[in-house]
Amino acid sequence: MMETGKSSVSQVKKPTLTPKAIIYQKFGSKATYRIEEVPESSQNGCPGLAIPQKGPCHFRCYLQLPEISVVSSTFTRKRDAEQSAAEMALQKLGISAEASNSLVLDSADELVARLSYLFSNEFLSSLHPLSSHLKATLRREGELNGLVPVSVMTAYDPKLSNLCTSINPMVDSNPLLAIPYIITAASRLSELVAISDDQLWIRRQNPYPPELRHSLVDPGFHMTENECVEAAYIPSSLDKAVQPIMLNVFSKGYYLDVIAKELGVTDASKVLVSRTIGKASSEMRLYFSALENSFSEFQNARASYLSGQVVYGNAIFATIGYTWKSADLFHEDVSLCSYFRMLAGKTPSGLYKLSREVILAAELPVAFTSRTQWRGSLPRDLLCTFCRQHRLSEPVFSVLSDPLEPVQKSSLPCGPRDSNTGPRNDNVGSAAANSNESVGSERIFRCEIRLFSKGQDLILECSPKQSYKKQNNAVQNAALRVLSWLSMYFREPDVPLMRLNSSGAAVDIKVYHSHFSREFEDLCRLMHSVLKQWDSLGSNFLYLDHANQSSNSCGNEIDRFNIKDPETGETGSYPSNESLVCISCSVSLVTDGDEMKQVLESTDKFEFTIGTGAVIPEIEAALMLMTVGQSACFRIDSLPPELILAAATDSLKILSDLSTKACCLEYSITLLQVTDPLEDRIEQALFSPPLSKQRVEYALQHIKNSSATSLIDFGCGSGSLLDSLIDHPTSLEKIVGVDISQKGLVRAARILHLKLAKSQAIVPSGIKQALLYEGSITVFDSRLHGFDIGTCLEVIEHMEEEQACLFGNIVLSSFCPKILIISTPNYEYNVLLQSSNLSGQEEDPDEKEELPLQSCKFRNHDHKFEWTREQFGHWATALALRHKYGVEFSGVGGSAGVGPGFASQIAVFRKEPQQEPEGDGVMKNVDTTQLHYKQIWEWNAATSAVG
Ligand code: SAH
Ligand code: MG
Repeated sequence: MMETGKSSVSQVKKPTLTPKAIIYQKFGSKATYRIEEVPESSQNGCPGLAIPQKGPCHFRCYLQLPEISVVSSTFTRKRDAEQSAAEMALQKLGISAEASNSLVLDSADELVARLSYLFSNEFLSSLHPLSSHLKATLRREGELNGLVPVSVMTAYDPKLSNLCTSINPMVDSNPLLAIPYIITAASRLSELVAISDDQLWIRRQNPYPPELRHSLVDPGFHMTENECVEAAYIPSSLDKAVQPIMLNVFSKGYYLDVIAKELGVTDASKVLVSRTIGKASSEMRLYFSALENSFSEFQNARASYLSGQVVYGNAIFATIGYTWKSADLFHEDVSLCSYFRMLAGKTPSGLYKLSREVILAAELPVAFTSRTQWRGSLPRDLLCTFCRQHRLSEPVFSVLSDPLEPVQKSSLPCGPRDSNTGPRNDNVGSAAANSNESVGSERIFRCEIRLFSKGQDLILECSPKQSYKKQNNAVQNAALRVLSWLSMYFREPDVPLMRLNSSGAAVDIKVYHSHFSREFEDLCRLMHSVLKQWDSLGSNFLYLDHANQSSNSCGNEIDRFNIKDPETGETGSYPSNESLVCISCSVSLVTDGDEMKQVLESTDKFEFTIGTGAVIPEIEAALMLMTVGQSACFRIDSLPPELILAAATDSLKILSDLSTKACCLEYSITLLQVTDPLEDRIEQALFSPPLSKQRVEYALQHIKNSSATSLIDFGCGSGSLLDSLIDHPTSLEKIVGVDISQKGLVRAARILHLKLAKSQAIVPSGIKQALLYEGSITVFDSRLHGFDIGTCLEVIEHMEEEQACLFGNIVLSSFCPKILIISTPNYEYNVLLQSSNLSGQEEDPDEKEELPLQSCKFRNHDHKFEWTREQFGHWATALALRHKYGVEFSGVGGSAGVGPGFASQIAVFRKEPQQEPEGDGVMKNVDTTQLHYKQIWEWNAATSAVG
């Protein structure tokens, strides 16, 4: 190692320095660079914001020196802008090329100067952390007295390592490369210092004056007891487990000698010290032997992955050292658990889990709805932490602002909309189509994010098309996008280039591959080998839940989650998508043949939004079946062992259990509270009976009037309509629900199952058969042709407009119900809903909504559109005409023709009787082979009465 270092030292005098390096030599930290992003066309009237732009982004650099300041022209790379500014400054200062060549020497000279200062009397009396090291080395006994390990000098004096970095930028990624430069500088100070043969230590030639020694080194150190510091021992071989060790630190001796002994080397100078790991203020470092071969086979994958620098041989992970704050040795225990937590924190999802303090239950959510709903560190902060940890530059967020356009009249019905599809989480209404009022200063926001390496190379660029009404939502959602994509990459780091690009493109992320792989390839290779070590552990997981395998998948789900007190399930309120829920949760490790469960993690109050992916899928699936007060208990068998170890306080025992016994995780959760989505709360608070109930009653009235015997509920969700059909006697005999969401269907099945069994026993309802299908209502299934009545309540707005149009066509041309009832929100009514106090509570207080119609939000984050009366009327009328149905308009909540009309607008389509002959003729042109739906539950009066 030292040999290769030497040869690079001799090269140092040759290379020409960059202008920026020369400025650094001259001015050090007195030179300040400020980068500004420059839009391509800078005439846009939105001060304080970057401006929307098409092409690549440009940068301009302001360089401030003590006497002058310069501004560069614009460049596509930040680095070029900086270099150009530095060059301009040099010109202005009259520093010529030759002069700058001599600066190369200056750089080495400065190193010499710094070194001679570090060994001066003056420095010894300072409170610099390195000075405390020097004092400690003066307390070493015998031969070792006063020998200062070179690695300590680079690790503890930032100035020294900065100087080395300016000579050789590689020092930044591998701090150990600084050592040879220091040795070279020391060799020019032979009067002052001596260097060891192995070039691992430096010693002052002449002893410090005795007075100095007396006052600083000898006295004042009360002989405290031996102190023990817990640390983690990370063997180089992945076959060997990471172990806790105790460092016996004598307050009188030099702690690095203790570490040396643990590493199996003679003394402190043979120990290499990594830079600090984790937070900037931490003293967490890795210690490893300088005598290891620097061949890749001896690389310590775990230690290198953890520290982001190359580590060879066995390593010790400890928090110990001298700080600025005090001359005393600072130390904290590093438990095995902290080691595993550091490991977990290397990925975006791990960072999120740690920020929530719920490692085994939480997941990085996939959606950011609002600040009030988000729990844990905000996406933007997570991304900044991630970049800092991986030694990238701070991410660059550019907020782009567009005027909120008066939306063009959308080409309804059925015309595809323009580019702006996809989720708009805070619902920039595109539905204000028919209003021609001026939109004034309303603006919407997008946010682009760029990640740069330390050397300012662009490595990733995310430019989402979605716009948001709030700047913060734009920023957080863009950050979340980048985090989610990076998470995905970390799960499968060896993904082929093609797929890497296409997975990025799908979420508007462009990866600059050569720079990206330079930053992450090594890391991922290491991570892979670190995680591979668990493969054998993982295989000990035991799936203990094979018992309840039956053909009824829904029943199975309920059994699987072992929900307590299911009898009350029919009355309580269930969480639905976007509900904010609060649960208590505890996770234990269950080991085969061991009666005792070990609790790994438990929390009394854990809040999150359903449907955003904020917890492991099993928890969410269980919650969809639970009402407030109920508990569930279930086991899962597959979770990365490093997460289990990060959650457990007694990592050592868990580690041994995981490697010797069959284990699984048991989750116990209790649903404490459900806060319905805002839409539901408003509907409940402002309407009596609640709007949802009014819709169901409206449908019931039509069912009764029509004497229908068969019904399909398109988009039945968790079955609220089907549920009421069982309570109210009607002429219906067969009821069917279709939905695309399995979660909703599972819950519908559970509710209907309980209710049908019960009602049959007391007052038999007329219903003979009930079925639930999973599938999209935009696809025809011939089993559902020709029913008496179809309902589709508050569903179409959850589909993209083209899909809603497709559904309209298919339902009237293929399903052909005699009557079809479609309800959807009336956008115009939002003016009333959203000026209510209730919706005000949801907002950040600093962003109160003003309420012209076009600034109204959609009622629910999942709504893809909300139509005005005119839009809905237009759509339904054209649809009816095309398929020879009659259509009438009505609604619930509010009243027709008064103010904004009904809250929920309803269209009732009736097949025109003369068009088709009754009876068999109906089936004539139906292709009965179209079986696209998956039946997921069935109930039959006949069979259930027997059973
Ligand atoms: N009709 C129910 C649920 C309304 S929520 C009620 O009034 O309570 C909207 C429902 O539409 C959700 O359950 C969603 O899963 C469903 N949905 C959305 N797109 C769908 C599609 N293409 N096919 C079937 N269901 C769909
Ligand atoms: Mg809806």
